[in-house]
Amino acid sequence: MNYDVVVVGAGIAGSILSKILAEGGFKVALLEKKKKSHIGYPWEITVEKRIFERICLKVPDIHQMPESPDFYRFYSHNRNDYLEMNAQDDSIYYFFHKKFNQRLLGMALKRGIDFYENSHVKELILKDNQVCGIRGEQKNLLLTRKFKLNGKIVVDATGSDQVLCKQTPDEFLMQINARKEDWVSAWQEVQLVASDKAKECEKELNILPGIAYVQVGKYHAFQVLFYRKNNTLNLVFSSTPGKHNPSARKQCMDFVHTYPFLVKRLYGGGRKFIIRRSLDTMAGNGFICLGDAAHQIVPTTGSGVASALYAADIAGRVIAGAINSDDFSIEKLWEYNYNYQTKRGAILASYDIIRLFMQGLTYQEIKSIFDSHFLKESNFITLYSANKIVYNIQQIFELLSTFISHMELIPIGVQIVQAIRDSQRILRLYQNYPRIYNKERFLAWQENVNNIFLRYYPDTSE
Ligand SMILES: Cc1cc2nc3c(=O)[nH]c(=O)nc-3n(C[C@H](O)[C@H](O)[C@H](O)COP(=O)(O)OP(=O)(O)OC[C@H]3O[C@@H](n4cnc5c(N)ncnc54)[C@H](O)[C@@H]3O)c2cc1C
Repeated sequence: MNYDVVVVGAGIAGSILSKILAEGGFKVALLEKKKKSHIGYPWEITVEKRIFERICLKVPDIHQMPESPDFYRFYSHNRNDYLEMNAQDDSIYYFFHKKFNQRLLGMALKRGIDFYENSHVKELILKDNQVCGIRGEQKNLLLTRKFKLNGKIVVDATGSDQVLCKQTPDEFLMQINARKEDWVSAWQEVQLVASDKAKECEKELNILPGIAYVQVGKYHAFQVLFYRKNNTLNLVFSSTPGKHNPSARKQCMDFVHTYPFLVKRLYGGGRKFIIRRSLDTMAGNGFICLGDAAHQIVPTTGSGVASALYAADIAGRVIAGAINSDDFSIEKLWEYNYNYQTKRGAILASYDIIRLFMQGLTYQEIKSIFDSHFLKESNFITLYSANKIVYNIQQIFELLSTFISHMELIPIGVQIVQAIRDSQRILRLYQNYPRIYNKERFLAWQENVNNIFLRYYPDTSE
């Protein structure tokens, strides 16, 4: 079978791109290894509101969304000593992942895509360094059928599996080897609180309904407790790999066993995934990757959905241009890299420095930073959690001046200032990402980026 575009993976990234391309009148095949009804995950997701306007996507019915918090409180060890952010200002929706994924898939199906469920894609087909299709196996009851599809462009949207990216030739320059520090284990679960134990829950956990408490730095990641007004407790646990870091799932199980007022697990789940900046290049001849497969994730929070929607919007336009001009070369598809990397990619890469820096701090160091109170709501939230970067030199001087009154924190203060400077450098480097494909210019850009990032990986620092 011949298609304009073959999209592999019907997660959020693959489904939205298929919908966009089908709306443009292209012939699209969407392949997914799972059965249709199993697509999507059992966890909740937070998604930036403004992304919907950008990609002209209707917001799901607000009454079908889980309750969102009024405030976030960030703390390190003491829930009474926090930095507070008004969650209503933060413009975030809470969705059920599976429902949202199924909705996007439904939209793509309505637009007339060919959908192949239970279809495990195994192999990228290349001819003269040009991707031209895929091979896989479809399972139906006891039968396994091998298949092959041709596409002018093939899209890898297989999530962290990166099934096709891993098979791209060296000439595509996709270095997909994430480091140990780039993996995180995350688990989200919603528990019912016994109806007569609401006050006990508040007292024992020292929390108030309507507020999401985010503990920063626990197991070099974070933990969230959000007691909803509907008497449920939303729990998020995460950890980076390390001898003394329990998996996110184990943390959740231990937590639930500790508090008898948590009487029923309503839903939840999790897994290990990569949380670093995007791949340096996400396109090749006849090939594009998208979503978690391209590491399009907010590195400080592990959120990947808004970036996948944003990138699909760009990819849709670039792919349409390529097909309409009958040019599927890397030169033509490079525009996808340029448009993503110079804007959202730049911001997320600069956050990645902050993520690596914070991950490298000991819990004690994070605790003393919070204890000293030199982080203010404005500078902490723009560095760690917001979706807008407002770094400026004045902010660095303000930070420096606060260290003077905390002599014991000067060494760590110097490191923070260095991390902010490096993060700004990365922002600028990405804003100057090569506009057109030129191998030498790209490799020079990549070397500059790597020189800064390597300082933040313990096994490579000098
Ligand atoms: C506990 C937890 C909480 C999270 N919370 C948030 C949040 O609050 N906000 C947020 O934005 N993000 C969150 N994320 C991350 C978010 O879930 C991902 O970024 C998002 O689902 C990525 O979508 P995707 O389409 O790129 O990949 P996926 O959703 O992983 O989709 C990939 C699809 O490809 C299919 N596939 C894989 N291999 C093959 C193959 N060989 N052949 C055919 N099909 C294949 C898979 O079955 C899957 O359906 C969270 C993650 C976890 C673990």
